[in-house]
Amino acid sequence: MTLHRPVYCDYQATTPLDPGAYDAMRPFLEDRFGNPHSVQHAYGRDAETAVESARAEIAALLGADPREIIFTSGATESNNLAIKGAARFTGNRRRHIVTVATEHKCVLESAYALEREGFTVTVLPVQPSGLLDLETLSAALTDDTVLVSVMGVNNEIGVIQPLAEIGGLCRARGVLFHTDCAQAAGKIPLDVDAMAIDLMSLSSHKMYGPKGIGALYVRRRPRVRLEPLMSGGGQERGLRSGTLPAFLCVGFGAACTIASGVMDDERDRLAGFAERLKSLVLAVPGAHLNGDPVRRWPGNLNVAFPGIDAEALLVALADDIAASTGSACTSASVEPSYVLGALGLDTVSAAGSIRLGLGRQTTREEVDFVGARIAAMARELRATVEVSAA
Ligand SMILES: *Cc1c(COP(=O)(O)O)cnc(C)c1O
Repeated sequence: MTLHRPVYCDYQATTPLDPGAYDAMRPFLEDRFGNPHSVQHAYGRDAETAVESARAEIAALLGADPREIIFTSGATESNNLAIKGAARFTGNRRRHIVTVATEHKCVLESAYALEREGFTVTVLPVQPSGLLDLETLSAALTDDTVLVSVMGVNNEIGVIQPLAEIGGLCRARGVLFHTDCAQAAGKIPLDVDAMAIDLMSLSSHKMYGPKGIGALYVRRRPRVRLEPLMSGGGQERGLRSGTLPAFLCVGFGAACTIASGVMDDERDRLAGFAERLKSLVLAVPGAHLNGDPVRRWPGNLNVAFPGIDAEALLVALADDIAASTGSACTSASVEPSYVLGALGLDTVSAAGSIRLGLGRQTTREEVDFVGARIAAMARELRATVEVSAA
């Protein structure tokens, strides 16, 4: 029996598990079940060896040392640990946090939690392109600033922030630089030294690894000190207590190695698909791309159809296309996206915007089909709007 499934166009919400990552994980769900911290016997040491090689695979993707990688449950936890951990450790000396209006909720909410603890938080605006202006960032830094948090690739609009420039600016001012790279890792080249990154959050399920695991890169030289979120047995250098899920660590490690192998080809292929998809959907009168047209990840096209209800468009196409209006984490709310709001998009354009995510399994035929279906339905809904307005 084959189940009819809509074409998957929501790669920013999550990605399918790469078959190579699945194969690597399987033995650890079967007979290689040891606790990686039980190093007194063979079962534990086997799991420990596997976890450590996965750690090295993750480090290699970032140009980091394996000792700088801390396993977590995902990017939400990594962002909380980085931001709260750094602020609370340094809080008696510096008490100012800087972040950006288009960050993921877990970054913004971590900053607001610190604000309630007495820290000062500056949330910087972005330019209409969605990119952070470096002058604006520079002007916001003070001698009291502990940490700057700016994401790599935006989950809603796909724009790529200038990480190396931001890192250089922070380093020159003695401020820690944290970056949420949940959508960037495995997609664009990252180098923690070249980009002067002190802390970086990763999520396995955004890069074809299993769900429920992520990592935090924590710089050793000069050493970044964090206060842990949880008390416990002191695993992960005391920063993240709890038994590591070896099968998830191994799957995440494999996903990193696979990503570094396919990264260049995948970007070129998706760039071609994005051009094709744009040519189809932007032909709808009034349609436009949200976010910078050049500095972007091609697997994310956020398109506005002003005057159309994006929710109605997605519902009308739900049998054929699985896409979303934005972040899965906030899609339960009917409010227009705060990210699109931060670009200065008018409410009519924001309410008519959908996010089309392309990824590893996307085919050329799917792109043609999705582009044609969306363009036709947008025209149809537009006609209905015009008739009812007349
Ligand atoms: C998905 C995502 C997160 C949350 O990651 P989880 O691993 O699901 O907790 C954080 N930031 C960005 C940019 C994301 O895309």
